[in-house]
Amino acid sequence: MTTNRNVGEPLKTPNGRVCELVDEETASGGQSSRQYHNGILETLEEADYEVYTLITKEYQRRQDTIQLVAAENQCSTAVLAALGSIIQNKTAEGFPGSRLHGGCNVVDEIERLAITRAKEAFNAKYANVQPHSGTAANQIVLTAVLQSGDKILSLASDHGGHFSHGAKISFSGKFFNVENYLVNQETFLLDYDSIKEQALRIKPKLIICGASVYPRKIDFKIFRDIADVAGAYLLADISHISGLVIAGAHPSPVDYAHFTTTSTYKPGGPRGGLIVMGKDYNQQISVGTKSAPLWEHIQNSTFPGTQGTPYLNNIAAKAVFLKETISDEYKTRQFKIIENAKSLVGSLLNLGHTILTNGTDNHMVVVNVANLREGLTGIISQRCLEQCGIIVDKVSLPYDKNDPAAGSGIRIGTPIVTKNGMGTKEMENITALMDAVLRKLEIISESEYKIDESFRSEIAENIKQLCSRFPLR
Ligand SMILES: *Cc1c(COP(=O)(O)O)cnc(C)c1O
Repeated sequence: MTTNRNVGEPLKTPNGRVCELVDEETASGGQSSRQYHNGILETLEEADYEVYTLITKEYQRRQDTIQLVAAENQCSTAVLAALGSIIQNKTAEGFPGSRLHGGCNVVDEIERLAITRAKEAFNAKYANVQPHSGTAANQIVLTAVLQSGDKILSLASDHGGHFSHGAKISFSGKFFNVENYLVNQETFLLDYDSIKEQALRIKPKLIICGASVYPRKIDFKIFRDIADVAGAYLLADISHISGLVIAGAHPSPVDYAHFTTTSTYKPGGPRGGLIVMGKDYNQQISVGTKSAPLWEHIQNSTFPGTQGTPYLNNIAAKAVFLKETISDEYKTRQFKIIENAKSLVGSLLNLGHTILTNGTDNHMVVVNVANLREGLTGIISQRCLEQCGIIVDKVSLPYDKNDPAAGSGIRIGTPIVTKNGMGTKEMENITALMDAVLRKLEIISESEYKIDESFRSEIAENIKQLCSRFPLR
């Protein structure tokens, strides 16, 4: 209810009592939203010095070392503000306009804004901003269209697929009947002919494409053709490349796949997940005994299917992030991310390294370290590089002969260095330092090594100097 009365004018209630109306400042105890939200870190410093100190330490670690984790990014401080806001306190099970709780008018607007922006960013007809994570987004899709025991065809997790695509150790492998396709043994590329042959043979209900370790373009159109002839749904999980897709730096799956999922932190937003759908969103389909449009199955399997109350502060932060993605700065940066990755490939090849698929089309470079030196493993490389201030991930390579705990490769990614403003010149510096470390370390076993301390500290100092020219953004 709104009134036209002026602040300060007394209000007559129906029982005749008179209430004093006060101005906004006094009404909220003299505190505005801005004052409430200002100085959040100062509050934490007073309330919990231990956690405050750890946060400060993590900031310094990030500033002083090079972040090359391909599965990581760095959101803006505007996104952080939305995450750390009063919106975190709102419980709102359900969807905008149909919640199970009172007081949802503001968060309804926030969620609708996030949905509109997600549809705009991905050129989609439907968007669901509620998934708690990329894994949760996949769980929602799987449980929306599959019954337990139904067949999934997906990329093997030791060939670059994600656990949530049907790995035995994940819910997706436990409740569904999963078969995997592999990359080609010589080229390490997806072999669409053999995937098609396999799909026709096993007739899966769902095909999943998209990967965590795959440096090349994925042809979503061919995947859809395969799904169509096999009578399967297609899920494209673009967690790693969704920023590139938004910018047009990688072809979009949105109108080819029935469902497109992504984590929202990998393209540079807050933690969380997202599901978008293109032209098939409204197709009427039956799952079990229920016939409904495809998007409605997704809604139901989100809430109450697999999640309770959505994280509305994350949804507010997703909205902030999605607005950023339609800016020129964001779009240009996605192309620079690829340029930097290609530059890493060039320098590494010059220095005699072996690169999976001999190059990259995206933000990721996968190096076969076992080919550089006899006995060198991914885990030794990761640990020793970290000691020198260079943060990467060890990975198993397709057809890896090493134990998965050791792995034969490292995966490096360029989203964060690019965000902080580094370019191809810096990529060359970083590669030279990485190369020096990988050649210098003394291999003791699959997981143990030694590194000369004065050499290590010299590299670490070099890295710190380099990073100091690029303050975190
Ligand atoms: C990282 C990743 C996910 C998981 O996202 P979370 O938000 O960490 O759960 C899902 N799929 C792929 C392909 C990924 O690389």
